[in-house]
Amino acid sequence: MTLNQALRSTGQTLHRAGIPDASIEAELLLGHVLGMSRTQLYTEPDRSLTSVESDRLLGLVGRRLDREPTAYILGKCGFYGIDLYVNCHTLIPRPETELLVEKALELARRRSRAQGQIAVADIGTGCGAVAVSLALALPQARVFATDVSAPALRVAEANCRRHAVSGRIELLQGSLLEPLPEPVDMVVANLPYVRNGEFEGLSPEIRAFEPEIALAGGEDGLDKIRHILEQMPGRLNRGAGFLLEIGQGQADTVTALINTHFPRADIEVFPDPGGIDRVVRAITG
Ligand code: GLN
Repeated sequence: MTLNQALRSTGQTLHRAGIPDASIEAELLLGHVLGMSRTQLYTEPDRSLTSVESDRLLGLVGRRLDREPTAYILGKCGFYGIDLYVNCHTLIPRPETELLVEKALELARRRSRAQGQIAVADIGTGCGAVAVSLALALPQARVFATDVSAPALRVAEANCRRHAVSGRIELLQGSLLEPLPEPVDMVVANLPYVRNGEFEGLSPEIRAFEPEIALAGGEDGLDKIRHILEQMPGRLNRGAGFLLEIGQGQADTVTALINTHFPRADIEVFPDPGGIDRVVRAITG
């Protein structure tokens, strides 16, 4: 079988199984087997696959047909311009979360212009996507990243090493803000916010493979958001800001919750590129 034939037949198999973007997925899987980029595959269309390569491809296609997410099969995912290692212990970073990073960077830069070095915390860091992106963009900042899951923190640690920011990110295990050793100037968190009733409607890729602990937010999805707000007193420096990623339809409730804890906070909600309110930013008074 040549590369071209392998691409075509893999694409067809995935397409018949109802997997979206089947031809791109075929390129990713074959590229992974051969250690080639998607474009490189087209420079040698007539090269033959060895039997070891074909077997490996079949194995990966089988996993994808079982609905394992491609990011777990490849062991990586692109986020905010960098490649991150991911495995089944961490949520796969979503493009929407790039908005969280962007808004966090805006606030952090404003704050560092005013006061110099700042301390920021990424809570529920998972694979470290947000913390690593912040550390790379904010060379002056001290970054803390917490997660309750030890296996997730090992993934975050690998990503800190991969992007040479291990010395600048302190990884801490524990519940939300609890492990922070000192108050911070900014908290950023993509906590679980999926409502109990929404679980059934998620794709099999998410439901059967991504860690429920990173997704499930209880009855109205806001258990962890309530919890982090309760933990904030004493853990934020004067005038600190925090940014929370939220799900569809949660902006009003989250804004009201923030208001009860921080009546003087300046709160703004930002929609993601799909028009869904996705990030709530609060600057405490
Ligand atoms: N956006 C994710 C999803 O739709 C949920 C992420 C989260 O709960 N923090 O699956």
